[in-house]
This record gives sequence, C-alpha cells and structure tokens, in this order.
Amino acid sequence: MDKLENILDKQFENRPKDVFFCKNCVLSNQRPRLTFNEDGVCSACQFAYEKKNVIDWNEREKLLQELCDTYRKDNGEYDIIVPASGGKDSAFVAHKLKHEYGMHPLTVTWSPFMYTDIGWQNFQDFIKSGFSNILGTPNGHLHRKLARIGLETVGDPFLPFIYGQMSFAFHIATKFDIKLIFFGENGEAEYGGSTKNNYRPFMPIEDWADLYFKGATVDDLVNWGLANNILTSDDFTESDLIFYRPPPIDEIKGKGIQMHWFSYYQKWVPQENYYYCAEHTNFQANPEGRSEGTYSKYASLDDRLDGLHYWLGFIKFGIGRATSDAAHEIRDGHITREEAIALVKRYDGEFPAKHFKESLEYLDIDEEKFWDIIEKYRVASPHLWEKIDGEWRLKHKVA
Ligand SMILES: [Zn+2]
Repeated sequence: MDKLENILDKQFENRPKDVFFCKNCVLSNQRPRLTFNEDGVCSACQFAYEKKNVIDWNEREKLLQELCDTYRKDNGEYDIIVPASGGKDSAFVAHKLKHEYGMHPLTVTWSPFMYTDIGWQNFQDFIKSGFSNILGTPNGHLHRKLARIGLETVGDPFLPFIYGQMSFAFHIATKFDIKLIFFGENGEAEYGGSTKNNYRPFMPIEDWADLYFKGATVDDLVNWGLANNILTSDDFTESDLIFYRPPPIDEIKGKGIQMHWFSYYQKWVPQENYYYCAEHTNFQANPEGRSEGTYSKYASLDDRLDGLHYWLGFIKFGIGRATSDAAHEIRDGHITREEAIALVKRYDGEFPAKHFKESLEYLDIDEEKFWDIIEKYRVASPHLWEKIDGEWRLKHKVA
C-alpha cells in the first residue's frame, strides 16, 4: 500500500489485524510487542502477578545493596547517574539512591521540547531538594525539524526526545567516567512489551534501537528529512547529532558502564512514587487537574507536546493515555476492570487541544498538513478505524 511508503515505524506494520483486549486489563493486542497467554491475559498483567507472587523482593533488595556497595565512591566523586526530569518517577529513584543507599548521584536531564510551567517548577524543586544536574538542550532549530519528521514518518514527534533521553546519559557517563546509570522502570515489563528483559536488571545496549527507537534511528530521520527537503545540510552539523546517538558500544563496554532499572530491585508503583516525591522533592501534581486524554494528574507533566504524543498512540494503535494509565492501575490493584473501562470510555482519545496551536507552531506545520498526516495513519489502519458519515470511529472498544 503506497500510503505506507512514508511510514518508517516498523511496529506499525506489525500490528495484528484481529483486535482483542486483555481479559485482565484494558490493553489490546495492538500495543507493540505485547504478548498474551492462552487465557487471554497480557504479558504486562502476567508480570504484575509475578511481581506480587513470585519475585523475592528481599532478595532483590540485597542485590541492590550489593550493587551500590560495589559502585559507591567515598572520594568526593559522583558514582551514579540518574536520568531525571523532576517527575515523580525519576525524582523517586534519585532521592532513594542518595538517601537510602548512600550514593552520590549526578542527575542528567534531556530537555522536553517545550517545558510546561508545572514541569519546570517540579524540575527546579527537585534540584533544590539536593541534586546536581546537567540539563542537555539540543540545537533547537534542528530539534524542531526532527520532531516534525518524527511526526510524519513515525507518527510521533517525540522520537528525538526519546533518543536523547537514553543517549545523553551515556555520553555524560563516559565523559565523567561514571560506571552506573539508573533508569526508573523497565517500561517493557511494567506497561507491556517485550518480555525479553523482564528478569534482567538492565537492557543490553544492542536492544535499544528496536525497543526504544521504534526501529528508526536519528540517521533514518535525518536522511528522510534531507531526501524530502525538510532538512538541508545548513540546518545542522555532525556535532549537533552526537547526543541523539549513544556513544559507541565498544566505548560503553570498555569503560564498564552499566545501565540498570530501579524497578528490577523494588516493586514499581507509580502512585507510591507520587506520594514519596510530594513529601521529599516537593513534587506537585497538575494544578489544572487531570491531563488531557486521561484522568490522572501526576504523570508526564513536563512537556507541552505530551498530550499530542499520547493522542498519536491512540490514532496508531487505538490505545490512548487513559488506557495505559488505567491498565497499570488495575494491575496495581487501585481500580477494577469495570472502573477502568468507564475511565477509558470517558477520556481515551480526548484531543489535546490545550497546547495544539503552539505544538503546530513548534512543528512548523499548519492545521491542514497536520490532519493530512493523521488521515494517512487512519487510512493505513482499516482494522482499527472506520469512517462513518465523515467521522472517524474506532471499530473495537474495550468492553
Ligand atoms: Zn493485561
């Protein structure tokens, strides 16, 4: 289908054409890499069960102690990098590692596209609670163009952010010779995806491109941009691309740098992270109440493009922000499946109107172009979307 020729997202073409939903949560099989057992229960729900019933958390706690004992430096140097936005999850990890495990974290942040007021405030309050931080901000001219190319080719302007979020921390680690990097949760295990690393404390660097970069690297975006006249060679220099790519794998391995997930060592409950950070890093929930597209008020608050990013997931996979939030809360035992279905019905797919205009300005496209792109993704998803009386509707809803 020639409609697909400009779509670089490999997971897009891999979507199963028969849509069904998990019997335990509200996710569907459209979520990339999600698998199901013979009872129709998704891999994220199976993992949640194992978190409660199978994993020995005391043992994991010991492993974390040992790991910290191995890497802790008492000579005044940093001994650990925590990529941190000031959001509840990363602030939780940094604060715990510093205060409970006696580590000396250097926190690093890859800047959001456009900070929200509350995102900036939480970030500053997090730093004030006692952390050194390096804020990495990419070439803004190039970054905007890459975001636009991400939107057109992968249906997600977030790609250049996702690249830097992983890679920047590794660059700082190699620069300062810090051997341990602690990310928050293993999203693939917690939210559903590849189960390959569920029982590993870390992800091999070789897996990054597939799992985090949607099969498209920054070089794919750049090449597409050059070929389609969105980018010219005047828009950037080679050095502008450094932080979008991880340092050479040989260098990371040679220096013995390891990346771990905190969620491997302690049970990951986002709501508890929120309470913890409200107490310790002055974290504030969204003062305007819930975020668009969901009912929650304390996750992903930093970036004015957040809402659009989640909404595009709804267009491409039929799974919006409320579905993801509600699925996790079912697994954490906070809500029932019935309550979750009601929340999904009410909020999923709500259009992110609040920052829409400035998002278009940032991406340097007009509304017509935007809806053309959205149309392309819907037309390429006949198993998900149907047009009735000129209005697009999802064919399958959780029930
Ligand atoms: Zn499930």
